[in-house]
Amino acid sequence: MATYKKHCMYCSQLIPGDSNLCPLCGSADPFHMRCPKCRNPIEGRWKVCSSCGMQLFTPCPSCGQTTRVAKFCGHCNAELLVTCPQKRCGVLQIMPADRKCIKCGKPFK
Ligand SMILES: [Zn+2]
Ligand SMILES: [Zn+2]
Ligand SMILES: [Zn+2]
Ligand SMILES: [Zn+2]
Repeated sequence: MATYKKHCMYCSQLIPGDSNLCPLCGSADPFHMRCPKCRNPIEGRWKVCSSCGMQLFTPCPSCGQTTRVAKFCGHCNAELLVTCPQKRCGVLQIMPADRKCIKCGKPFK
């Protein structure tokens, strides 16, 4: 059986059409765009999530280009979304420029 390939919504590379997780960028559900925070389905042109208000585009802290908020930057592949490693914090956020948690101030590695 021939494997058909589809473009990942996050990194736009061709990956097997039955992937539940993009093998190239690690995004879950690579063929449907969802809010990275609340998993609400979103559309490509939306600037913020209609459900939780999460910002969906951000300037990448590494390359400075505006990119869709996903686990990795669509331009330079730098890590974009981080979850604070502090157990009592655990806030999901776009990597701050100073690499410190926006909530508790603890630095990321
Ligand atoms: Zn991908
Ligand atoms: Zn949301
Ligand atoms: Zn980048
Ligand atoms: Zn934190």
